[in-house]
Amino acid sequence: MSDGRRTYDEDLNTALQQRREDIRTGGKIRIKGSGRQQDSGRSPYRMDQWLATRGFLPGYAFGGDFIMVQFPNSDDDFVRDPQRALREFGPGALCYAHKRRWRVDTAVPSKEALREFKRCECGRIYEVTTHARAACKCGKVLADGPVSAMKMPSVRVKAENRISRWEEARESKSFVIEQFAEFVPATRQWQFTGDDEKRLTLSFMPSATVTTINYRSKFAEGQGTGAGRVPSNLEHQPGFAVDEGKWAIRSANSTRPDTEYKALYASGMHDAIHLTYGPVTLAEASALKTTLRTALVIGLSLALRQGPSELQAFDIPSADPQFIEVFLYEATSGSAGALSRVFDLPTLREAVGQTLEALHYAPDGTDLRPECVASCYECLQEFFNQREHCLLDRRLIKDVLLWLGKAEPEAIDVDRWQEIIESLNGAGSDNERQFIEMLRDNGLPIPSKLHYALPETGSPILEIDFKVGRVHVLVDGSIHHDKWVHELDEEKRSAVSLEYGSTLFAFDMNDPQGSLEGLKSLL
Ligand SMILES: [Zn+2]
Ligand SMILES: [Zn+2]
Repeated sequence: MSDGRRTYDEDLNTALQQRREDIRTGGKIRIKGSGRQQDSGRSPYRMDQWLATRGFLPGYAFGGDFIMVQFPNSDDDFVRDPQRALREFGPGALCYAHKRRWRVDTAVPSKEALREFKRCECGRIYEVTTHARAACKCGKVLADGPVSAMKMPSVRVKAENRISRWEEARESKSFVIEQFAEFVPATRQWQFTGDDEKRLTLSFMPSATVTTINYRSKFAEGQGTGAGRVPSNLEHQPGFAVDEGKWAIRSANSTRPDTEYKALYASGMHDAIHLTYGPVTLAEASALKTTLRTALVIGLSLALRQGPSELQAFDIPSADPQFIEVFLYEATSGSAGALSRVFDLPTLREAVGQTLEALHYAPDGTDLRPECVASCYECLQEFFNQREHCLLDRRLIKDVLLWLGKAEPEAIDVDRWQEIIESLNGAGSDNERQFIEMLRDNGLPIPSKLHYALPETGSPILEIDFKVGRVHVLVDGSIHHDKWVHELDEEKRSAVSLEYGSTLFAFDMNDPQGSLEGLKSLL
């Protein structure tokens, strides 16, 4: 591997990469120029380490979940996070690396991990590899057969000597791509309620699974000559095949059955924030959602000191048409732990301030660039979101941002919290109430169980006060905590500790802040 690989990434922020290297290596190991020879042995560990210092790998990929882009000269090879590769190095894509032009030509044989997905016209996607699914959440029947998808493999490129038009280069990377997330229980939740009854919620989900699907190329050979736009009703057909190792792209008028083609997928676990906002009118929903998503990625990246493409976001089909839903996630290792910091109010407010500024607004909302009517290349527009330019309108979210910058977070589902607090009585309940209020006021999840036995099945050994996320909490001073401390014999206590050690937590009321941090770390 020569330093030449860097040429592909000339567009990346070099200074930021260096900063990340410094953070990761503590500034001790500089991998620069010829010094890199120390890592030329391709043992998986060193490879990963080297890749991580270069910001190539997302955090989840340390087990080696990356794909390789292979060149005729293997010294030129580089790796990519699979979800990014799916966009940049899909079948037939043209790319520029090592000072010349290449075309993604060959799929490197790999264990073909096939998965099947069904897509509803509302935009929801379900994996149906092992579980059948007949109907969508929205109520529509999932009538179409599943799309079979192969895991994004490593690819080989060949030199592209032909001079291709700029449009061709662009079209070669124009894929029909969709993403969906499998939610996990939130560990932090905030809600903001405005005077106008508008409501914004933020839920932090550690390690949610994000799957990206590349269905097909948007441009394909048709009956005439040259590539044309695939009709929109065929956009979600699987559109790739591997023919003796070479990628083949389905033509727009292909009469061969879907089963002869595959889509491509890549999945990864990412820390994420699920945002909902509403009520909004149907007329404004689409532009508002697109603008808010685009703007927040910019503002959060600035406030959380994240580089380009480290934070990503996509829309989620909303259960309630009056609410918009956006899913923001940490796409790379460089962002590890970043999004959880949003649940620190000054950080959130800084992000809101950065977003306003990025949209040419002063902190008080004064428009500093009236000549930018809706959006421009200096605020929301970029090359990669051209198709959304018509939906980007900074004016739509100015008031939301001004409000959010001052709003106080509150717990989601206030009534349920109150119900729990009122249900607590008897000895030790003061501490329990205080504990519940602390959870609520710090955006922690609402307890899913109150006063229950462990083990949860079988003969009970011990009574627990609250189940918070996956953690069984005993509140200092409660009846159950008292029993745990004074009545349970040593044998039972150690049996329980052994079984539930990492999820059993005694909340010390003499050190509520310390205990709260301890609890957060277990969630
Ligand atoms: Zn649906
Ligand atoms: Zn602008």
